[in-house]
Amino acid sequence: MKVEKELLKEWDKTYVWHPFTQMAEYVKFDPIIIERGEGCWLYDIDGRKYLDAVGSIWCNVHGHNVKELNEALIEQVNKIAHSTLLGLSNVPAVLLAKRIVDIAPKGLNHVFYSDDGSTAMEVALKMAYQYWQLKGEKKRTKFVKLDEAYHGDTVGSVSIGGIDLFHSMFRELMFETYKIPSPHPYRFDGTPEECRDYALSKLEEVLEKHGEEVAAVVLEPLVQAAAGIIVHPEGFLKGVRELCNKYNVLLILDEVATGFGKTGKMFACEWEGVTPDIMAISKGLTAGYMPLAITLATDEVYEAFWGGDYGSGKTFFHGHTFTGNPLGCAVALANLDLFEKKGYPESLKPKIDYLYRKLYEELSELKHVGDIRGKGFMVGIELVKDKKTKEGFSWKDDVGRRVSRRIVEKGVFTRPLGPVLVIMPPLAISEEEIDFMVKTYRDAIVEVLGN
Ligand SMILES: *Cc1c(COP(=O)(O)O)cnc(C)c1O
Repeated sequence: MKVEKELLKEWDKTYVWHPFTQMAEYVKFDPIIIERGEGCWLYDIDGRKYLDAVGSIWCNVHGHNVKELNEALIEQVNKIAHSTLLGLSNVPAVLLAKRIVDIAPKGLNHVFYSDDGSTAMEVALKMAYQYWQLKGEKKRTKFVKLDEAYHGDTVGSVSIGGIDLFHSMFRELMFETYKIPSPHPYRFDGTPEECRDYALSKLEEVLEKHGEEVAAVVLEPLVQAAAGIIVHPEGFLKGVRELCNKYNVLLILDEVATGFGKTGKMFACEWEGVTPDIMAISKGLTAGYMPLAITLATDEVYEAFWGGDYGSGKTFFHGHTFTGNPLGCAVALANLDLFEKKGYPESLKPKIDYLYRKLYEELSELKHVGDIRGKGFMVGIELVKDKKTKEGFSWKDDVGRRVSRRIVEKGVFTRPLGPVLVIMPPLAISEEEIDFMVKTYRDAIVEVLGN
């Protein structure tokens, strides 16, 4: 069926309900409808092209339409597209499980498949919960989360989330949690070390008082992406691990955004030499090609579920229809081959340094750029009303979106987080593309807010 461009746009506005989008506003603009991709570029039905500065919402790794990844999918689809993992296995799922265990932090030896970041986190929560039930510590039913946390949009993931705009609407549906402050150096009155120690002291307070009811502490390691690319001070993650050990609670790390080289290491927790008890990965797992996720567990967690018959209550009763999908697993294997071939993430270091040099050169002098922060290819540029006092814009100013819209008009696709402009490109982005991207951000900021 060949449909006219204008009709496609009409149908998009009429029939598609876009996620995280106020549709009444969406329909006021000419929709951008993507038809194909090539490298780090997206091409729309009007023949315009956009540099994919947010990696198709943080998942794309090697760019679009990558020969090796395409071929892996074609080869697999010619064998089988899907069979179940419930009581059955498939070749790519087995191979990928072994490959992931080989590259994961040491000790995470067991792979539980699901479909996306949210379901991987649901699995993590239920796994931690049932683990303590099986260990006979039945009071350990609570989770500790960080302020501004984001772990996905299913109800369990929302319960351990802390972004009011997304989550407060659903309060009645959520289970109770303990919340500690997120260590956010830019918004903390003191040094980064003091910021770290303050958040750790708050965690210790909670664990001292309620530790015996706590199943796990949950966090995004190093970078809280959806919170506005909050970068934790050095030593925070390590401190959390030590407190989890001291109070005998599990540590769940959500590496859905940070995994697969985004911070400059394969997994962010490697920066601090930390191994969690349970770890969720998704976005970059398939290089951004297919929905697939994994929850990894240690022997200690896995073995608690071992033995007995179905009636013994030891089985982990969880699973999704498309769990361990062969197409997703096949492309994930090809993704890891490309990591090896390109020497990622180690070989990315010069490009990461280049990116920050450019960002500081072009943006740090602008009067409304309050903070440029990031780790590896996860960057946030916080726009503020007053650079000295760090006073932010009011939400009515809508600066993040106004500037981002200008950036898109200039040929770079991005999506802000409140007043924070985001850069999270495919790892494959070139230096020339970085130049164009950073210059476009600069021009848009200057045009909308002045310099
Ligand atoms: C994107 C994201 C999720 C949710 O993943 P989905 O695939 O969108 O369900 C969970 N945690 C983090 C840290 C994320 O960035």
